Order: sequence, then C-alpha cells, then structure tokens
Amino acid sequence: MKKGDMNRRMTLLLLRDAQRPARQFQLSRPVVILVPAIAVLSISTLIVSLQVRSSQIISRLETTLAAQSLQLEVTVSDKEKAISLLQNEVMKLSSQAVDMKERIQRVNELEEQLEEFIQKYDPDSSAKNAGKNEPISWDISGSKGGQWIAVHDQQVLTKGRELKDDFEEIQDLLDAMEKSVPKTLERAEDARKNWEEQKQAKLLQARKLELAREGKPSLWPTSERRLTSSFGYRRDPFNGRSAYHAGIDIAGRIGDPVYAAGAGTVTVADQMSERGKYIIIQHPNGLQTWYMHLNGMNVSPGDQVDKGDLIGQLGSTGRSTGPHLHFQVVKQNIPVDPLLYVQ
Ligand SMILES: [Zn+2]
Repeated sequence: MKKGDMNRRMTLLLLRDAQRPARQFQLSRPVVILVPAIAVLSISTLIVSLQVRSSQIISRLETTLAAQSLQLEVTVSDKEKAISLLQNEVMKLSSQAVDMKERIQRVNELEEQLEEFIQKYDPDSSAKNAGKNEPISWDISGSKGGQWIAVHDQQVLTKGRELKDDFEEIQDLLDAMEKSVPKTLERAEDARKNWEEQKQAKLLQARKLELAREGKPSLWPTSERRLTSSFGYRRDPFNGRSAYHAGIDIAGRIGDPVYAAGAGTVTVADQMSERGKYIIIQHPNGLQTWYMHLNGMNVSPGDQVDKGDLIGQLGSTGRSTGPHLHFQVVKQNIPVDPLLYVQ
C-alpha cells in the first residue's frame, strides 16, 4: 500500500429505515482501520481474561469439590467399615449364642438320659420327684445354616437386641441348670446305689442257685466207670439169697481216687464191720452220698467239700468180696438209684 493511499479519506454511509435519511461520514482511512481493530482487540482481551478467570474459578471449584467429595468418600467408607465390623461382631456373637444354646441343650439331653436312668433303676425316686425337675428345652432347629445376607443398620440394632435376649435366656437356663443338675446327680447316685444293691442281691441269689446245683451230687465218684452191681434187688454175693442193694458197686483197684459227687458237708467218716471205712456227705435239699469199703479217708466229720474234691481211696474193707466202691445216694433218708444223679 502506498503512503498516498493512507491519507485518502473514506466515506461511511449510514443507511437506516426508509423514513429516515441516510447519513454520511467522512473518515480518514487509518481511523477506519484502527477503530475496529482496537475494538476487536479489546473484546478479544476481555474474552481471554474472562476465560482465564472462569477457568480459574472452575479449577478452584473443582478442587473444592474434589476435596469435599474425597472427604465424603472417606466418611462414607469409615461408616461402612464401622458398620461392617459391627455386623461381623454381632454375627459372631449371634453364632456364639447359638453354639452356647446347643451346648446347654446337650447338657440337658444328658440330664434327661440321667433321668431315664433313674426311672429305670429307681422308679420310686422318679415318682416322688415328679414335676420337680422339668427338663429345660427349646427349638433351635431353625437357627443354623442359610446364606449370609447383608444387613442394614436397623437390622444390626434388632440383631443386637435379640442377642441381648439370647444371652439373658442363656443366663436363665444356666441358673436353672445350676439348681437342677446337682439334684439329678444326687438322685442318680441313689439310683446307682439302689441298683448296685439289687445287683448284689441277684448275684447272691445266683451264687446260691449255683451252690445248690454244685451241691446236687452229679459227678461220677471214681476213675473206673464199670459197674459190678446195680441198684435194687439182687442175689446176695455172700449167701446167694435175694437181697436189696441200696447203691451201686463200681469196679476199681485199691488206692484209686474217690471224689465227692457234689459239694456239701462231711457228716460221717468212720468205720463199721459191714460198711468198712465209709464217708457220708450231706448235700442241700436233703440229699446224701455214701462211699463204702474205702481203703483210706482224706476227710473228717464237719469238713466242707466241693464237687470233685478227693475224699478217700477205693478199697475192700468191710463186707466185700474184692476192691470196689459202694456208692449210694439217699434222698430224705430213702436210698434212690444213684444213676438218676451221677452221669
Ligand atoms: Zn454195694
């Protein structure tokens, strides 16, 4: 652009609506160029400064908000953590309460078993204690298992109250058990003693029966089992006349052992012309066993003998034709066939 152009004047024509005349301004060229440029510059500057300012404000706001949000997050997170801890504690305690109840229930069951034991062995004791020792129980079947469900604050509070109730209930149960268990144990001890006495009585009875069985003569009285003469009527070996034989004659050699056919008391251990050396043993139920023609005797009157005890030696003393044992069983003073007793 030439210097002359710069000094040239420029005409600005202001056109308004149709009713008003148009106006005309004469302006130098530099003014025409500079004024809008300055205006544009100032507006730009203003816009930039506004932008800077607003961005500063936004930035400050952002910082504040971020800080507040962080604080909020921390607070919420703390609270959640606290609630979670509390929930865990409550759940733990709650499970402990259930566990305690179960244990008390087991003790109760033991007490009930004890009660059954008492009723079995000492029914009288149960009758006089009826209603005194009501076993304590409750239903815990619904308390176990299930999935874990997150709980809210209100639920934690409710759970906490339930827990308090649970522990109070446990306390009551323990108090009741403290009173009832020693009583039950005392009665169980009585029942045990009673049962022990009954058992002893039964044992005594059984022993008596056993003794009676042992007392019944049933053992073959010597080692040889061959008979030379049976029980009843026979021809007398000395005079050939018919005679009554009150026992059996068992063959043997002199000195063979002679055993007690059953337990009992020796009433006679003596010698007579016909019987020779002989022993009589008294058994229970009015039974006696007689052993005659012995060579030797190992017992004396008054001796207690057991079944199978060695009482003497086989011989041929008295009215005898040779070594043998005359064995006789007497029931209520009447001789009976020994073969009905000894096998
Ligand atoms: Zn005989």
